[in-house]
Amino acid sequence: MADVADPFCANWTFPFATLPREGRTWLQTARRRTFGAFRASDRDHAGVDIIQPVTTPVLAISAGTVLKFQRNFTDKKNFETDALWVDHDTYVIRYGELRPGQSRNGSGKTWKVGDTMEQGQVIGQVGYVARDSQMLHFEMYWGDSTGNLSDRTNKIYKYVSGNKYQRRSDLLDPTEYVNLMARNSGF
Ligand SMILES: [Zn+2]
Repeated sequence: MADVADPFCANWTFPFATLPREGRTWLQTARRRTFGAFRASDRDHAGVDIIQPVTTPVLAISAGTVLKFQRNFTDKKNFETDALWVDHDTYVIRYGELRPGQSRNGSGKTWKVGDTMEQGQVIGQVGYVARDSQMLHFEMYWGDSTGNLSDRTNKIYKYVSGNKYQRRSDLLDPTEYVNLMARNSGF
C-alpha cells in the first residue's frame, strides 16, 4: 500500500526550482487546487495543482522512464496542453498541463516511450490553461492497475475515498508526497 515513508519516494524532489509565489498551492482548498476539489457534478479533481507562471521549467521528481507522451491533455477552444506519464520506480506520475511542443528529452526531442530521465532534469514547461491560472497538474498512481489513466466510467478506487475522479483505480492522493518533495527541496 502506498505510503510516503516508502523508500521508493523518500528522496523525491519538488518539480520546480522554487516554491510557487502563492506558497503551497496544492493545499489551497479555497482555490480548489487540492486533490478531490469539485470540478463538475460528475467529476472531482484527480490531482493537485502547483501554480507557476507559463513557461516555468518542470523538473523530474526522480529518475524515471516515460510511459506515454500525451497530446491534448486539455483540449479546449482557447488552449491546449500536453501531459507526460512517467514510471518513477513503482509509481506512475502524470505531469499535466504542459506547454505544447516543449516536453523534450535530454536530446531536445519530444519524449518517446522508454526514454529515461534523471532526477531534477527539465522535462517540460508549464502550459497556458487560463489567463489567471497556469500550473503543473500533478497526478499520481500506485502502479498496480493497467490501462488508461483517464477512465470516465470507473467508480472503483483502491486507495482514495470518493468515486468521481474519472481515473484509473490505483489513483493516489498526491498531497503528502508533494509536501515531502517540498521538504526534500528545502522549501
Ligand atoms: Zn489540476
